[in-house]
Amino acid sequence: SELPTRESELIARREKVLGASYRLQYRRPVHFVRGEGMWLYDPDGRAYLDFYNNVPCLGHCHPEVNAAMAEQAGRISANTRYLEPKLIGYAERLVDTFPNELDRVVFTCTGSESNDLALRIARCASGNEGVIVSSYAYHGTSATTAAVSPNLGDAVKLSPFVRIVSLPGPAGVPAAQAAEFFETQIRSAIMDLNRRGMGVAALLIDSIFSSDGVWVDPPGFIASGAAAVQEAGGLVIADEVQPGFGRTGAHMWGFERHGIVPDLVTLGKPMGNGFPIGAVVGRRAPMERFGSTSRYSNTFAGNTVGIATADAVLKILQRDQIPQKALAMSRRLRDGLEKLAKHRHEVHAIRNAGLFFGVDLGAEGTPAAGRRAMALGLVNAMRDDGVLISTTGANEDTLKVRPPLVCQAEHVDLFLATMERALTKIAG
Ligand code: PMP
Repeated sequence: SELPTRESELIARREKVLGASYRLQYRRPVHFVRGEGMWLYDPDGRAYLDFYNNVPCLGHCHPEVNAAMAEQAGRISANTRYLEPKLIGYAERLVDTFPNELDRVVFTCTGSESNDLALRIARCASGNEGVIVSSYAYHGTSATTAAVSPNLGDAVKLSPFVRIVSLPGPAGVPAAQAAEFFETQIRSAIMDLNRRGMGVAALLIDSIFSSDGVWVDPPGFIASGAAAVQEAGGLVIADEVQPGFGRTGAHMWGFERHGIVPDLVTLGKPMGNGFPIGAVVGRRAPMERFGSTSRYSNTFAGNTVGIATADAVLKILQRDQIPQKALAMSRRLRDGLEKLAKHRHEVHAIRNAGLFFGVDLGAEGTPAAGRRAMALGLVNAMRDDGVLISTTGANEDTLKVRPPLVCQAEHVDLFLATMERALTKIAG
């Protein structure tokens, strides 16, 4: 249907000045003027339930986080070259949430910067060049991180130093078999990199495989492959930009589900609840090696406003036991989706860790194009009904459901009721 004049005008102006690489979400794009908790509001005051955005992990415009940010902005925004107790205190509190081996941190402004820096550290510490990633991974915007992001498709040619591994699936594959499947590919990638004189610098993986379509199970399947990389002199980098800060369950970090201790961990998105801040946390040896041979100067990273904001986020997450409470909500959502799947054959598979869900659509035997159309149809029908989600996976036929961690039972129930209505609508 035709878009209202106001929206079509904005779209036209946007396309003219921002160009093609800026994408809009939804067939009927939305304009939000205000956010509060689980809700976003359009100019007409219509409320949309946010079941998609993981950046505002504590909910949109959290008053305590905003107060900490504003207080610091009113005082001083200083960089890391001055003695700043708040920076040190936050760094100490942050590394305390990691296993003991990971006791160093360097701050960045974005997830891409975190991954870019982690790759520099891994190459410096290992003396190798090769990078292994999953087959539909996304790791960032910089030249190096885009070059290790098969998700960007044909537009970005993968570099000769990249090797790709696929993930075990579908759900229900026995743990040992899944681990072996993953490890075998990693070993052959290492052999190939060695043969070509590059060696393996890093296995870079998002522990919940967000852009691959949310591949969470069986827990532990990445462990033996990760160990093979370390044996070969490479570093394991856990990209926690999406799974981090309590997204995947009661623990803080997604890699904990897999029972591994990575060498480097990259952070971003929810770290500042919307304020751009990221970090690389890691083992002392590689971080020190890099620090003594290279300089890392990042003007805005670790600035006091970002630090005050991230510190407030971490304190609230811990004080209010947000990850633990989110786990209870994830069980409610899982139960509700399973119930829905019993009478709606379009719901094909449900995967989740904590409050990060991937839901495959399309009954057995539905062709890829049909599954994709169904997922996009559902996402748009839900948007029209006031609930925000999106899609993920190579075929974009997996619903990506990832609400702020502060969602409550009433929000879960509203999401489920809206999804059921939307399924009926797209089937009809
Ligand atoms: N890693 C992962 C797993 C991500 O999902 C993203 C962002 N979608 C990034 C890295 C890059 O983060 P940013 O956009 O903050 O640079």
